[in-house]
Amino acid sequence: MKNILFLFLCLFCIVSCNKNTEYQVNPTKCSGCGECKKACPNGVIAVDIINVDSGVFSDGTKYYDTTRRARIRPNRCVGCGKCKQACEKRNGKDGCAIEERK
Ligand code: SF4
Ligand code: SF4
Repeated sequence: MKNILFLFLCLFCIVSCNKNTEYQVNPTKCSGCGECKKACPNGVIAVDIINVDSGVFSDGTKYYDTTRRARIRPNRCVGCGKCKQACEKRNGKDGCAIEERK
């Protein structure tokens, strides 16, 4: 009987853990404003400076611009959704760059 109860407890824990939603940043929508980083209570969001293709010189060499982009550190998000709320507040629901990780 104890073994069955223990098994049910384990299954309950696994199912509960899987209910937590993790979030990720859609890089095509992120402007790098940093509002999500300010809102995250766990400090798991970084705003990186990255190079983006900008053009090609006449000799064929590529040149780059820099831009800022948010990144949620994997496996550390607890799914509270505060980053998504902050992004929606700034960019509207349709412009929000934070999505549920599938
Ligand atoms: S609030 Fe939205 S647009 Fe701003 S840095 Fe975060 S994900 Fe990007
Ligand atoms: S859902 Fe919560 S813990 Fe996860 S990145 Fe957003 S604010 Fe941080």
